[in-house]
Amino acid sequence: MPDQTGSEGNGSVNNRRRAGVAGLFTARIKSMLCVGCGECLAVCKYGVLRRTSDGKVEAKIGQKCLGCHKCIAVCRTKAIQILPGIGFSRTR
Ligand code: SF4
Ligand code: SF4
Repeated sequence: MPDQTGSEGNGSVNNRRRAGVAGLFTARIKSMLCVGCGECLAVCKYGVLRRTSDGKVEAKIGQKCLGCHKCIAVCRTKAIQILPGIGFSRTR
């Protein structure tokens, strides 16, 4: 059965995103693509992201990502991925 987004089999993820359930998504930053502009840091209100010593951004261990996609919307280099599932690791 298609959900309200018209997609098959992804209803629970979309429902969690609409419900704003923190910690059920994993943020990943592709370090090779990150230029350190900091736009994502400015829009993430949940403390998921932080600056690294080399001036880029990474997702914290034990992050509680809401899956709101605000960071993706402002990232001009497409360095960010938001995946379903609880985030316990940083990804380079
Ligand atoms: S918005 Fe994208 S390029 Fe800018 S710091 Fe965040 S991940 Fe890096
Ligand atoms: S989707 Fe991006 S802006 Fe939203 S909580 Fe997760 S890391 Fe923060």
